[in-house]
This record gives sequence, structure tokens and C-alpha cells, in this order.
Amino acid sequence: MTIIIIGAGIGGLCLAQMLKKNGMNVQVFERDANASDRPQGYRLHLDADGISAIKESLPEKLFELFELTSTNPLAYTTILDTALKLKRRFPIDEYSKTEHHIERGVARHLNVNRATLREILLTGLDDICYYGAKLDHYEADEKGITAFFEDGRIIKGDLLIGADGAGSVVRKQRAPEAKLMDSGARAIYGRIKLEDARKVLPQLCIADVFTAASDARKLILGVGPIIFPVRPESAAQSLGLDRTLNEQHDYVGCIISGRKEFFGSDDTEVRKKTSDELQQMAIELLSDWPSEASSVPAAGEKGSFFYIEMNSSIPFDLKPHHNVTLLGDAIHNMTPSLGRGANVALKDAVLLGKELIEVALGKKELVNSLADYEREMTEYGFNVVRHSAEMGTKLLGQDPLTE
Ligand SMILES: Cc1cc2nc3c(=O)[nH]c(=O)nc-3n(C[C@H](O)[C@H](O)[C@H](O)COP(=O)(O)OP(=O)(O)OC[C@H]3O[C@@H](n4cnc5c(N)ncnc54)[C@H](O)[C@@H]3O)c2cc1C
Repeated sequence: MTIIIIGAGIGGLCLAQMLKKNGMNVQVFERDANASDRPQGYRLHLDADGISAIKESLPEKLFELFELTSTNPLAYTTILDTALKLKRRFPIDEYSKTEHHIERGVARHLNVNRATLREILLTGLDDICYYGAKLDHYEADEKGITAFFEDGRIIKGDLLIGADGAGSVVRKQRAPEAKLMDSGARAIYGRIKLEDARKVLPQLCIADVFTAASDARKLILGVGPIIFPVRPESAAQSLGLDRTLNEQHDYVGCIISGRKEFFGSDDTEVRKKTSDELQQMAIELLSDWPSEASSVPAAGEKGSFFYIEMNSSIPFDLKPHHNVTLLGDAIHNMTPSLGRGANVALKDAVLLGKELIEVALGKKELVNSLADYEREMTEYGFNVVRHSAEMGTKLLGQDPLTE
């Protein structure tokens, strides 16, 4: 069975690792020109779903590398007032509705640097990962699938997996009935070098998974730390791996988020702003708060700020298909209010990987495996979309989900 994955993001790479580890024939096609073509963003919070999926899919040494380069924060989501004084600390599983992880005895939380995670997920995939390959469309029939790329490449296979993120080309063809809604929430995202963050933030903010301060308008200032236990640039060698990860420094990710009206009336105008202009906008947004708050984005690294428009999938019934499926944001995109999107993408990857291994072993028909995967994945995936929307409405003034 030849398996074609579209998208070398978190979910697609996790699946590719799992299939390769199990000796299966898989190829990944990514639209970016190369692995470091585009900034990957900053901190990601991983919970038991994400961590156990990574453990299951990566070779043992790479999982050790992942652990060596992941921050071990205290498992709390912490709420501050606008003067950055402590109001309440929630155990994070209570906040992000993952109490079932504790019941399973696997509760664990890590903060990871997204670019470092992606480098680890790409390790060992050089021979099966193709860049500059933007999918245009596909054709599927009883015999197999044909993928057509914008550069003229045509690739044939038995199964096509759309792991191509929120704007998925595969989804638009596989499930044209699927809809994304504008959540009404926006954010400016940047980062602060750890030594500068220590000067402007209470210690708790540097210890806990995520800390947020908010006002009556539901404008939020959120922060989360990345402190590498071992420097990425030396971690791989310390494990005897023939690989060097890019140099990184410790930092605190910083997000200023709320209703889109706070950021100006027109997204196209905000998209044109430079990092310096966005940093200034973040400082001004907090100008009504005590000065402790605006000193946080003011301490940010020059050039690190960008604008985020938040969308949400609208849950729907995915009709079965015999040789094309979807995973991650391509099917259940959500706002980052729970910090769960990547975790669910990783969970999908392992669930689908297990089904495909059954097919390869001759224990199951492909069509039945895909149907079982999609039934389970859409049930938990869309539930997390709903929970994220509820939390986003409560905290960020996100528009309620229109189901
Ligand atoms: C500010 C912010 C903070 C977040 N924080 C967290 C967090 O703390 N924890 C968490 O779990 N989640 C978080 N998320 C959500 C998380 O980033 C996503 O859910 C996750 O990246 C989804 O992974 P994916 O593999 O489905 O898609 P992606 O990681 O988006 O990967 C899709 C890949 O497909 C490629 N692609 C797209 N179109 C094509 C095409 N036509 N042809 C070929 N390739 C294509 C893209 O270039 C990309 O590499 C956050 C999101 C944001 C915006």
C-alpha cells in the first residue's frame, strides 16, 4: 500500500514517523520550499494525548531527544488580575477539560518549542519528505488516488491523507460541505527572552504551563515559558544521534488576544503591519491596565510579533470514503483557547496509524479501517472544537459556534 500524506505539519509528520517505523511505504508532500522556510510559531503546550502519541510514533532515541528539549512546567493554568497579581490557579486538566487523562493515570504536561518539535519529527524522514509540493487537487477511483501538484508533479498511490492544516485543499474536495467560521477573536503573538521576562513577570508566570490576565472586555494577556532542560543544539549529540538541532534560547511566549474590533476594523490592514507596529499595538491595547501589564509586550524581542486570525471548524457529519481521509486542523480546526489543537492532531495520527498497520497486516479492509478511524476521530475532535469554542466565548469574546 502506497500512502501519500499532504502536509509536513505536526500531525502529518507524526503519522509518517509511525508508518515508517512499522516498515510501511509512505511519502509526505509539503508546500513550503524547505524545512525552515517559514517561522513555525513559538510555545506549544502538549498534554497526555500529544505526548503519548509522540512516544508511540517516534523511534526510542528521538523520543528521548523530545524529552530532553521539552520544558517541564508546573501543571497549572493561572489567572492574574490586570496588575498581574494572582487571582486563581487551576490544575490544567480541569481548565482544558482533560480530567480523563488523570483517570487514565497518564496526566502529563510539557511546553515545547514548535520549531524544535518539528525538527525532531522530521528526523529520519529526508528520503520520504518532498518540499515545494503544493497540492492542487486529487482524483480518486476504485483503483487508487492521483495527486496533482501546482508545480506539475503527479503522484499515484493507494491512500491520500489530508494533513494540510486549517485551509486544507484535501478537505475542500473530500468534504465540500465542511465549513469554517470566523471566531471573531484575534491575537498578536510574540516572545520575550527569558532574562527580560524575569524582570517584568511574576515568577509563577515562568513556572506554570500558561498564565493569563484579563479585563472586563475579555481582552487577554497570556504568557507561557520555554526553558530548555538541555540546549537543543547539543541535545542530539548527547544522545549519540547523527543530527544537529538548530540553536534556540529560553523565552516566554506572549499573546494579546480579544475581539477583532480591538485590533482595528480591517484584517487586511492589520496583516500589513510590521512586527514593531504590532508590538506597539499590543502595548497600546493594554494602556488602560496598570503599567505592569504593558511592560510585558514592551519587553518583547524585536521582530518576533505577528498577527493571528482565529477560525473554527463547524462540526459536521463526515461521509465515509474508501481512499481519502483527513487529520488534525484539516478536519477539526479550533481556536487556541484550550491549547489542544496539536494534541488532537497527534492523537489522530496515532489512531489512523494503528488502523493502517492492521490493514498492512491483512487483518482489516482499508475501507473499514478508514470508517472506524473517522467515526472515533470526528467524535472526539469535534467535541474538543466545541469545548474550545465554549472557553473562547467565555475568555476571549469568541462568537458562539454556529452548529
Ligand atoms: C497562537 C496559537 C497557539 C497554539 N497553541 C497550541 C498549544 O499550546 N497546544 C496545542 O495543542 N495546539 C495549539 N495550537 C494549535 C496547533 O497549532 C494546531 O492545531 C496544529 O498545528 C495542527 O497540526 P496539523 O498537522 O493538523 O496542521 P499544521 O501544523 O498547520 O500543518 C499543516 C501543514 O500542511 C502544509 N500545507 C498546507 N496546504 C498544503 C498544500 N496544499 N499542499 C502541501 N502542503 C500543504 C502546511 O504548510 C503545513 O506545513 C495553537 C495555534 C495557534 C494559532
